[in-house]
Amino acid sequence: MAKKQFKAESKRLMDLMINSIYTHKEIFLREIISNASDAIDKLAYLSLTDDTVKVKRSDLRITVVPDKEARTLTVSDNGVGMTAEELEQNLGTIARSGSLQFKRDMEQKDDAADIIGQFGVGFYSAFMVADEVTVVTRRHGEEAAHCWKSSGADGYTVTECGKEEPGTDVIMHIKADTEDEHYSEYLETNRLQSLIKKYSDYIRHPIRMEVEDYREKEKPADAGEDYKPEWETVVEEKTINSMVPLWQRPRSKVKQEEYDGFYREKFGDWQPPLATITTSSEGTVTFKALLFVPSSTPYDFYTREYEKGLQLYSSGVLIMDKCADLLPDCFRFVKGVVDSPDFSLNISREMLQHDRQLKIIASALEKKIKNELVKLMKDDREKYEKFWSAFGRQLKYSVVDNYGAKKELLQDLLLFTTSKEGKLASLAEYVERMAEGQEFVYYVCADTKEQAARLPQVERVADKGWEILYLTEEVDEFVMQALGEVSGKKLKSVSDPDALPETDEEKAEQEKQAEESKPVLDFVKETLGDRIKEARVSKILKTAPVCMTADGPMSLEMEKYFAKMEGASPMGAMKAERVLELNPSSAAFGALKSALDGGDREKAAKYAQVLYHQALLIAGLPIEDPAAYTELVCSLMG
Ligand code: ADP
Repeated sequence: MAKKQFKAESKRLMDLMINSIYTHKEIFLREIISNASDAIDKLAYLSLTDDTVKVKRSDLRITVVPDKEARTLTVSDNGVGMTAEELEQNLGTIARSGSLQFKRDMEQKDDAADIIGQFGVGFYSAFMVADEVTVVTRRHGEEAAHCWKSSGADGYTVTECGKEEPGTDVIMHIKADTEDEHYSEYLETNRLQSLIKKYSDYIRHPIRMEVEDYREKEKPADAGEDYKPEWETVVEEKTINSMVPLWQRPRSKVKQEEYDGFYREKFGDWQPPLATITTSSEGTVTFKALLFVPSSTPYDFYTREYEKGLQLYSSGVLIMDKCADLLPDCFRFVKGVVDSPDFSLNISREMLQHDRQLKIIASALEKKIKNELVKLMKDDREKYEKFWSAFGRQLKYSVVDNYGAKKELLQDLLLFTTSKEGKLASLAEYVERMAEGQEFVYYVCADTKEQAARLPQVERVADKGWEILYLTEEVDEFVMQALGEVSGKKLKSVSDPDALPETDEEKAEQEKQAEESKPVLDFVKETLGDRIKEARVSKILKTAPVCMTADGPMSLEMEKYFAKMEGASPMGAMKAERVLELNPSSAAFGALKSALDGGDREKAAKYAQVLYHQALLIAGLPIEDPAAYTELVCSLMG
């Protein structure tokens, strides 16, 4: 019979498994059992939502059968099974996103074998220990069964066959022992039993296996005085796993490794979670939750493909894989499980009726997650900063969302780079160390923290020794606007004319300067026309000659932001009202003034243009005509 070829990606993964030198090949059993358990979940779910599917829950089980003579290990389930098409789909292609991610990671790493064990690699891992794998499966509700067979990367066959009960048997023909590898151990009952205990204890369906038991024979009725107990070995089918889901066990009784393994297996991440959160409630709604914060940003996190949500179980039955309503948007990176007996099982049909319960749980989880993150920030700053680099952007966007609806909740979690050693600080930390006489929380926008430190408008505030938040992400300034203030301290841009307190003398001096500079300012405005709204004597510059600021609600940073979105947004065309700020005590201003005073208007106009362009450059704004600007500068060198 002609063999079908695997899809290229599957073939690679398969090759890797077959030739794996990985030392923990034993994890294949966990993967195969986990698939069996999922198949049973699917059937249990079907029976709840489809009245034609009748299932007795107590019959659902996974069976593990080693056969030393045939050298096979068979894992059977009476779950949902697969149709012929599903067989092709699922076992001929990499289906799971986890496997795809694994493949990506693999391509970036030389030593791929290193990460196999940490990763849920799924069905193909059977090929680490088996030289041939046969899958006999019958879809629930169908008569025909199908047999998938493959002995490696060269392909597979699918034939029709017989099978009495719906469900799936995965029959692994175990490889021959070699000098280095003792594959036969996967045919030993004891070894299998301990593997099931180690990796699959929490699986909620019984994993049954025949085990030997050594026990006392029953005492015969006619046993005399001198009866000595006799012992015998019996073989008996037993449930090997304790079947208690991890989230039902008290936290103190679960090892972190167990949580880590559960997370990786269930959510297809190869790294352990950054934080594990457990919580439960017995109030209006009873529930238990086991949540995880991933260690790094999922590759699709900031795309439309990413789907947030938590798994929802009701009394041990998985009723929804990604229940979005359970998880507030701001924490959409969180993964995990919620189990509540208060939901009727066909929830997806009656979602609306459960709206209130879902909201109660979601808001309890929101508080809990926030508190855990605050605690993490306090207790393990390094870890928190890792979290921040993975998901900080999400939190900032969430502050801005819905007109700042979540700002109270989230502001304690924010970190910003500040002028203090260029390190990250929370807003509370900033406020805590504010200097005497310092009224505001200062910030400045720039592309990088290095640029921020060198901006002319920073100088005045920095010279006072006051700390400044360096806002280097586009969303940051919107965050400032949404927050408005923290702990009663207003957030203030260093470019704001009122950024620094002024004495009456200073004010008078400034007015005098403005008056004196008026002819120059008028000339500059006249020269630049509509390109600026106004030229003014700067209150925010100390030594630098010039800078650009904006009047009105729209800042220059926002203008840049909207410019990037142009086309996508009707805001695209919006421009800030630009103000050219000049420093009358600078040499450049002096040169401009004397050119004007000396009647050389042509030269003065050139100077005004140069200053304008310098201001654009410093602000990171585009120059409209770079060639003309170059000519202008060169003409001054003649
Ligand atoms: P994953 O289980 O993460 O999706 P696998 O490679 O392990 O990835 O399996 C691929 C798919 O094959 C599964 O998603 C499932 O649809 C199907 N499958 C595997 N084992 C079984 C089984 N025992 N019963 C029914 N379907 C199965």
